Amino acid sequence: MKHGIVVVGAGAAGLMAAGRAAELGADVLLLEKTGGIGNKLRITGKGRCNLTNDCEIREFIAHFGPSGTFLRNSLARYDAAALVQFFHAHGVPTVTERGQRVFPASNEADDVVRALRRYCLDHGVQFRTHSPVEGIRVVEGALRGVRVVGGATYDARCVIIATGGLSYPGTGSTGDGFCLARAVGHTVLPPRPGLVPLVTAEPFVPHLQGLSLRNVRATLSQGGRELASAFGEMLFTHYGVSGPIILTLSRFAGEALGQGPVRLSIDLKPALRVEQLDARIRRDIAALGASTYPAVLKRLLPRLLIAVFQERSGIARDRALSQLTAEERGRIITLLKAFDLTVVATRPIAEAIITIGGVSTREIDPRTMESRRVPGLYFAGEVIDVAGDTGGFNLQAAFTTGRVAGESAARALQRAYDAPMGAAASRHRRAAKSKEKGT
Ligand SMILES: Cc1cc2nc3c(=O)[nH]c(=O)nc-3n(C[C@H](O)[C@H](O)[C@H](O)COP(=O)(O)OP(=O)(O)OC[C@H]3O[C@@H](n4cnc5c(N)ncnc54)[C@H](O)[C@@H]3O)c2cc1C
Repeated sequence: MKHGIVVVGAGAAGLMAAGRAAELGADVLLLEKTGGIGNKLRITGKGRCNLTNDCEIREFIAHFGPSGTFLRNSLARYDAAALVQFFHAHGVPTVTERGQRVFPASNEADDVVRALRRYCLDHGVQFRTHSPVEGIRVVEGALRGVRVVGGATYDARCVIIATGGLSYPGTGSTGDGFCLARAVGHTVLPPRPGLVPLVTAEPFVPHLQGLSLRNVRATLSQGGRELASAFGEMLFTHYGVSGPIILTLSRFAGEALGQGPVRLSIDLKPALRVEQLDARIRRDIAALGASTYPAVLKRLLPRLLIAVFQERSGIARDRALSQLTAEERGRIITLLKAFDLTVVATRPIAEAIITIGGVSTREIDPRTMESRRVPGLYFAGEVIDVAGDTGGFNLQAAFTTGRVAGESAARALQRAYDAPMGAAASRHRRAAKSKEKGT
């Protein structure tokens, strides 16, 4: 069957691409591998969907590291404000929370999926679920359409690949887009986990499972060289560490782990300088009187951390506070400012929030999302080698690239339809002129 545009994948990027292209008048078929649409969208933001981030554009781009440059052009056309306006217009009012994170006011990710589905249906997008695309059909360099598992083919002038990455494969994102892109000559940067928990070596860590630390600073380093640092909240798990700042730092850990273990140093008291901490501890010791060493730790640390901390400090549990030396106080302070863990791995990509790597941005036109290798082929969303921090950045990137891909494909299609008519019109004009001249 012949269509103007086939969109592959009904996630955030694919739904936006399909809806926008159809809104501009294109005949659009949306093929989805699973039985549902927006599977991953529904679980985003713990079911609340952190749609976007309302920060200033320069800061927004910085949250993507080096890959941010690729998004500059498309974000100038479709930014957070435009996306929020879109959802308001489609019955999803939003609220902006701490850190400029934008959520649907209903706190329901399902409302976002419903709005996108309606947007597509209202403009005539045809949906076909249980339709895993296994090949892009290119004949003598010209794009012809797609082939789905089982052999059925769909002819199309334009194809938009919006198949996502490799994380949470249960949602349908199993990296198919990387194979599809490779098969038609695209470079795919090796996928690896992004925004992912870290595995640590210390045997005491599993005992800290469930402990959440707020307002701490975590710093990653390797061989004495600082890699990155972040302030905020983190969490201990049965295998290592997770939580917002760990997910943010995981990108740097993942890159460095190839060269060996990475040190994660946690400053448990980032607001206090060494002298201030020493004064605080001396005050506590004076107030506690005849107690033993753990009594002072109780004032400084969460309960779960006390036994580990006491052992690491090398100071006996029954040591009388009145007998703590300046050197021992120094040891406590050093540990408070640098509670070190050894990072040995990231958790697997299936547990990552996003995939780093994907179709090389060098081979995609950032103004249109069109392939520089196969005219008529477009990419949108996480299948592209673009990866942002937590906070709504990745969904905005998916919506923005989807919007631009849908718009560009619809316009290209329009030009293709107009071209023969344009040629016919100029033939007609030439004929009319000749008639006028009587030639
Ligand atoms: C638990 C979790 C929470 C998250 N929370 C947030 C958040 O709050 N805010 C945020 O900004 N980001 C969040 N993210 C990241 C965000 O969800 C993704 O970056 C985003 O969904 C990517 O959109 P996409 O459309 O590119 O891909 P996806 O949403 O992965 O959609 C791809 C679609 O393509 C389909 N597909 C795959 N292969 C084929 C094929 N061969 N044929 C047909 N269809 C195919 C899949 O079934 C799927 O439906 C979260 C991610 C996870 C895992």
